[in-house]
Order: sequence, then C-alpha cells, then structure tokens
Amino acid sequence: MKFSNFFSPTLKNVPAEAEIISHQLMIRSGMIKQSSAGIYSWLPLGLRVLKNIENIVRDEQNKAGAVELLMPTIQSADLWIKSGRYNEYGKEMLRIKDRSGREILYGPTNEELITDIFQSYVNSYKDLPKNLYHIQWKFRDEVRPRFGVMRGREFLMKDNYSFDLSEQDAIISYNKMFEAYIKTFLRLGLIPISLRAETGPIGGSLSHEFQILAKTGESTLYYDKDLEQIDPTNIDTKKLQSYYAAVDDLHDQSKCPIEKNQLKIAKGIEVGHIFYFGTKYSEKLGAFVQNNKGENVPVHMGSYGIGISRLVGAIIEASHDDKGIIWPLNIAPFKISIINLMIDDENCKKVADNFYNQLSSKFDILYDDRDCSIGKKLSDNDLIGIPYQIIIGKRDVKDNLVEFKVRQTNESKKISIDEVINIVSKKINL
Ligand code: ATP
Ligand code: MG
Repeated sequence: MKFSNFFSPTLKNVPAEAEIISHQLMIRSGMIKQSSAGIYSWLPLGLRVLKNIENIVRDEQNKAGAVELLMPTIQSADLWIKSGRYNEYGKEMLRIKDRSGREILYGPTNEELITDIFQSYVNSYKDLPKNLYHIQWKFRDEVRPRFGVMRGREFLMKDNYSFDLSEQDAIISYNKMFEAYIKTFLRLGLIPISLRAETGPIGGSLSHEFQILAKTGESTLYYDKDLEQIDPTNIDTKKLQSYYAAVDDLHDQSKCPIEKNQLKIAKGIEVGHIFYFGTKYSEKLGAFVQNNKGENVPVHMGSYGIGISRLVGAIIEASHDDKGIIWPLNIAPFKISIINLMIDDENCKKVADNFYNQLSSKFDILYDDRDCSIGKKLSDNDLIGIPYQIIIGKRDVKDNLVEFKVRQTNESKKISIDEVINIVSKKINL
C-alpha cells in the first residue's frame, strides 16, 4: 500500500474526550472516528487490525472444532419473550419497532437465536456435540460508554454456543473452549488471566472470565502469580482452573487460600467470558433431542464470548510507548514500512521502489512515499506502530546502506541494501 493512496488521517493533538492511552492513540493514528457516543467508524488502519484479530480468533475456533455461521444483528422480540429475557434484560437492550409495529431489537447476544436455529434442525443425540459461532456486531446501550472501543455501545464480538447431550459432555466442550481461549490470547501476544466468574444475566453454574493485564483495567484482580506462567505448547486447563484467582468483589483476604507472597494484585481488562448454563435456554425454546433410549431430553448448552473490538484497545493498553502503538507482529496493520525520506531523489526512489516491488507480494507493506517532512514520516510510522521500518535516506543510499528499525525496541542499525530482503524475510517468517 502506498501511503499517498491510503486513508490514514493522523492527528498531532490528543482529543479532549479520550481519557485513556489506547483511545487517544486510536484516534491520533486514524484508526477510528466516533460517530456518536460509543459508536465508531473503523477507518482503514483500524479495520486492518480488527480483521487480523478476527482471523486469529476464527482460526482458533475452527481448530477447536467450532463451525462458523452468521446470524443477523436485528432479532425479533418473540424469541426473547419465550426465553423470559425480554423484560429481564433491561435498558441495555435497544428495542425498535418496525413499520408495522412489530417489536424487534438489536441483538446484545445470541443465545435465543442460536437455540432456535439448533432446535429447527437437530433432533437426535447422534448429531451431537455441536458448536456454532459467529462474529457479529452487538449493541448494548451501556450506561457509560467510555474508553473508546473498550466499552462501546456497538461492538464486535465472537460468540459461540455448544450443544451437548449431558452435563458431562458439556463440560468437555467447555474445557475445549477454555483451551482455545488461552491459545487465542497467547497468539495475540497477551497473557490471559483466567478467573472463576459470576454468571450474571446469562445464568448457569460454571463460568470463567479472561482478563489481560493493563494499568487502566476496570477490574482489580487477585491471583496466584503462577497463573501467568503458561506453556503454550502444553496448555493444562485443569491446572489453570485450579489456581486461585478472583476479581476484587469476590476476593476476601481473610479467606484467601494462598500465601501472601504468592498472591499478585493487578488491574485487568475483561476480553473474554465463557459460561456453562445447562438446559436454561433449551427447555424454554424447545431444543430437545432424542437420546439412545428414545427419550426426548433438553440439550446442555454453553456460550462463549470474545470482545474483538475491545481487544484492539486492550492490546494497545498492553503494548505502547511514548511514541505510539507497538503492534505485535501478527496483528500489525502492516508488518513493514518502507520510508523514503527523499522522494525527489532519484536514487532513493529507485531503492524504495525496488524494495516495494519485491516485498509487497509477500507481506503487508506500507510504502511511505508521502510528500511531507522527514519528522512527520518518522513520527507517523512510530505512532501507528509498524513493527519493522526500512528507512531510506540520501546519504546512506550513496554508501549502499539503509536504516533498519525495530519498533519493539526502537533500535535501528545500518544494513547493506543487498541484505535487506533477506533480513526482513527472516524476521517475519520466524
Ligand atoms: P463487561 O463485564 O465488561 O460489561 P460483560 O460481562 O457484560 O462485559 P459478556 O456478555 O461476557 O460481557 O460479553 C463477552 C465479551 O464481549 C466481554 O468479555 C467483552 O470482551 C466484550 N464486551 C462486552 N461488553 C462490551 C462493550 N460494551 N464494548 C466492547 N466490548 C464488550
Ligand atoms: Mg462478562
């Protein structure tokens, strides 16, 4: 992508309404634009990151055996009346009337709709287990939308739903998802802290929240510090679930089962939440299957959510410096930028064009060919957090050199022009 063709309106000044760093950086780097309270347009740079996160989440869901479909954002009130949640859900639900006076709503979650889809087609235990997911926008009319995309009113969620014949089988599905969540967050470059949680309006008996650590987190977490040591090659869900971990309103120091020096207290951001809720929805919405004795039994269900749009903000909270965002490589909007400091110099242009032609078929490249000051070029590339930067200047090119900068450490070194493609390809294919 040539920067001169791209649409990435960067700002120098911090907008007054942005209280936390991720919100400030997302606006300054031109990732999002507020449309109304808690509702955002995703500009091209923001959309690239959102899609990259979405794809990692999708890949881990698919690997864990979940199957993707897509349900609508607008739902009929009927199913919610059947489940009993239409009145229960309260003011967070955006209720709408269509032109013929029918009550519809913008879905805040999808237990009702998916249970209805399931019950329309599945009748036998032989078709179980099933695990279905979608990645779709949700709307919750939050009392206090704030922190940009972290607590929006419209937000993107991956939500899936498992269907099993028995509680025992449902717990197996639950633990599979628990493992998929840990893998997903590790791949996003995050350390997930998993905590037993309250089930809230979804209902049910078993639930875990996944939080990531960040100073600006809304929750205070108390947990066994060993919970941070996860071996990505061998995820032991049983062991992870056995560690002590609680949010502040569930933590009672006098009853805390672990030693003080083993206890860590830190702020966290909730990025995922999973539930096992048994037959709560299947009974009300008629999701019954025949078991091997010919009896009709309600299926046991779980639901699992990841806040994809919230993750964009949460990752920035966890990974930035005073210059801007530091994207982990696999979610960066572009992996490499080629920064031509002297667009009018023929040699610089030749070298930059040549890199662009060779690299852009293999990687997501941002070619900064804009007609603007050197200072702006360098600071914009740092602000938007491009992991590897190839900086091309007149004097270096004469010596057959370019500067190679790693955003993670802000270290840069001069390398020979002939080595660039090799070095960059090696770094990225690690
Ligand atoms: P919270 O406790 O933060 O209000 P929740 O418990 O109501 O969230 P869930 O119903 O568990 O949320 O939704 C699953 C995931 O969706 C959450 O873990 C979070 O990552 C994301 N999410 C929930 N509400 C919002 C929101 N208003 N804006 C952005 N993401 C959200
Ligand atoms: Mg939750």
